Amino acid sequence: MNYDVIIIGAGINGCASAYFLRNAGLKVALIDQDGIASGGSGAAGAFISPKISKAGELKEIMGQAHAEALEFYSTRFPQFTLTKPLLHIANNSKEGEKLEHFKRETSLHHSVIDDELQSLLTPEAAEDSYIYFSEGAVVDAQGVCRAMAEGTDFYTIKVEKLTRTHGMWHVSDLNAKHLVLAIGAYPKLLSVDYVGLRGIWGHRIDIDTSTRIPCILHHHVSISPTTKEGIVAIGATHDVHYSPFSEEPYDMEQGRAILLEKASKTLKLDNLHILNDYTGLRSGSNDYLPMLGSLVDADATLEKYPHMRYGEKVDPSEFTYYPDLIMINGSGGYGFVLAPYLAKRLKEHIADGKDMNPVLSPSRFFPRWAKKNQS
Ligand SMILES: Cc1cc2nc3c(=O)[nH]c(=O)nc-3n(C[C@H](O)[C@H](O)[C@H](O)COP(=O)(O)OP(=O)(O)OC[C@H]3O[C@@H](n4cnc5c(N)ncnc54)[C@H](O)[C@@H]3O)c2cc1C
Repeated sequence: MNYDVIIIGAGINGCASAYFLRNAGLKVALIDQDGIASGGSGAAGAFISPKISKAGELKEIMGQAHAEALEFYSTRFPQFTLTKPLLHIANNSKEGEKLEHFKRETSLHHSVIDDELQSLLTPEAAEDSYIYFSEGAVVDAQGVCRAMAEGTDFYTIKVEKLTRTHGMWHVSDLNAKHLVLAIGAYPKLLSVDYVGLRGIWGHRIDIDTSTRIPCILHHHVSISPTTKEGIVAIGATHDVHYSPFSEEPYDMEQGRAILLEKASKTLKLDNLHILNDYTGLRSGSNDYLPMLGSLVDADATLEKYPHMRYGEKVDPSEFTYYPDLIMINGSGGYGFVLAPYLAKRLKEHIADGKDMNPVLSPSRFFPRWAKKNQS
């Protein structure tokens, strides 16, 4: 079967890419080994929150992505989007300083909290620095991924190998000119060890509680009403030590206990029952910027420029890249914030021939890796 684009990975990045590319009139095949939103995306609390960061490229990209995401989900997928004010409370003094700085600089509307909200918080939470945004949102992670993928041909395939002949990529019996790798923190399918990514395990629970929560709260964990009436989500414990690729099972009970203990530092949840657990890997880049761009063919590039191993500087335009192959990845804890921004630019590149932002290119990690791996 022939397509314009094959996308491997049906998390938020793959589904958003399918949505934008299909709406641009391209014929798209979406592939996942386990189903739509079966990886990190299915576990996400999926808050559309601004990143509290200092000035610089990351702040600019995150600011733009946040604005685009709020508008995108609330206008195109309102049934999966709940908009609420968002209270971000610092969980240590360093974060408090960052937050106070952000508060002075940001153009996002924020205000002081009212007495009702104040009375919900524990004394500890009420004392910490905070920023209270008038506009925040949370999306139904699985619902929105499925809605975005609707109308795109979906295949359940565990891709083991990628091949390319006569200008076409082949995956199983599917062929396409363009290939998009949206595989999160899973094994990379190509020899691209330079791509600086790491997977962090996360856990979210849905609960019911008689406590009414009027806004989205981020403190030691996130606590928020959801698009499902009466259900509150608590997430995420980020367990840097657990890997789903190891033999050991994840300790769900312990994960729940940690989430509830952390939530209790923010507010008291009465008559609480756990309804569901969601776990998954999120993949963050080593420099916190997301990735959107072509992948360097390391062997071919080092053959052309062997002295890169000793630090020779080569302009990235001279590297050899895998043709018509783009990676979208590395969004860390902001996959739902970044996906509409990244997928829109992916579409503009594939369908409209626009250049992608070199700052986001995964090739940014290549020169350093080449120097470190001198063999
Ligand atoms: C608990 C938790 C809470 C989070 N909360 C938020 C939040 O509030 N806001 C926010 O914006 N982000 C949040 N995130 C982060 C967000 O979920 C991730 O950034 C996002 O899911 C990344 O999406 P992705 O599409 O890149 O990866 P994934 O969702 O992991 O998708 C990759 C997909 O590729 C498939 N795949 C991989 N290899 C293959 C192969 N060989 N063959 C076929 N299929 C393959 C996998 O099955 C998987 O479905 C959270 C994450 C977690 C875990």
